[in-house]
Amino acid sequence: MKRISLLIVTFLLFSVFYGQSVQGDVGVKLYINEESIDLYPAPKIENGSVKVPVRSYFEGFGAVVSYDYTSRGVVVQRGERILRLCDLDGISFQGGMAYGPLRAMAGFFGDEIIYESQDRSIRIKSEYGWIQKKLPQIKGTVAITFDDGPGGYTGRIVDILKKHGAGATFFVLGCNIPGNEATIKKIADAGFEIGNHTYGHPNLLKLGTEDVKRQIERTQILIHDITGKRPIYFRPPYGAFSKSLAGSVDMAMVLWSVDPADWKYNSCDPIVSNILNNVRDGSIIILHDTEYITAVSLERILTGLKNKGYHVVSVSDMLKAHNIEPEKNMIYFCSYDIR
Ligand SMILES: [Zn+2]
Repeated sequence: MKRISLLIVTFLLFSVFYGQSVQGDVGVKLYINEESIDLYPAPKIENGSVKVPVRSYFEGFGAVVSYDYTSRGVVVQRGERILRLCDLDGISFQGGMAYGPLRAMAGFFGDEIIYESQDRSIRIKSEYGWIQKKLPQIKGTVAITFDDGPGGYTGRIVDILKKHGAGATFFVLGCNIPGNEATIKKIADAGFEIGNHTYGHPNLLKLGTEDVKRQIERTQILIHDITGKRPIYFRPPYGAFSKSLAGSVDMAMVLWSVDPADWKYNSCDPIVSNILNNVRDGSIIILHDTEYITAVSLERILTGLKNKGYHVVSVSDMLKAHNIEPEKNMIYFCSYDIR
């Protein structure tokens, strides 16, 4: 019976959506166990099949969802079963969020899907109840960044980010890389973005152009030797920037718009509340993976941001979510302040 209804669903989806060559967000109504639900972002149609945002869909069932940025894949654990999907299975990433084929994913977990063309609704029957009765109001996508590592807390921070399915950009110091190559590899292997924070943390405004270039290039080579990639972003130490400095380096300069000064504190509260009070769609948050208190605060920061409706991603994914293509010689404070 289940198989037959799946076949019918496939046929209906194909004929209804593909027949009308409908693409994009077409306002499909979702019901789970006869209860109407709202997903953010909305489901969409791609090549005739319905795709849902994997995280908000499955987390609504209380499942654990994590992204594997290395393989551009997604892992969903609901109950005893673990579903692993990659782009071959129809996973696609948009603005740092993964979308997956509803029919195949629901089928894996044994949920039944019935498409009703009359009211353009999809009715899902699941033994798992929908626990996310009210989704937090989605406020946007923010970038989280970590400076001055690799250091003693970097590995722990990577693990916490992975657990929360968050992205991040690490602005590393060249002088900290020798001896910490494994940490750089761990950051890269986990799919996080690496940026250049110079070699020795000088105030670049006090250096000549050649010295600036040497500071950047030395770190580019160290990172490339380990990861095979040259970073496209650099962050000047102390936030000491000028337009002519940005113009002298063939990379995009990334500053920040939310600075909780984590290095100043030895308790979590001021750091967490500073971020949650000042964050908005398109923010770039600066933290330091050299600080113990930052590693300790991170769970609360990520949970707080999620509860406020923010997706936490790398600088690249935040810009992508705002349709911004990073350009060299430009200075990025956040998605709405680019100079
Ligand atoms: Zn720094």
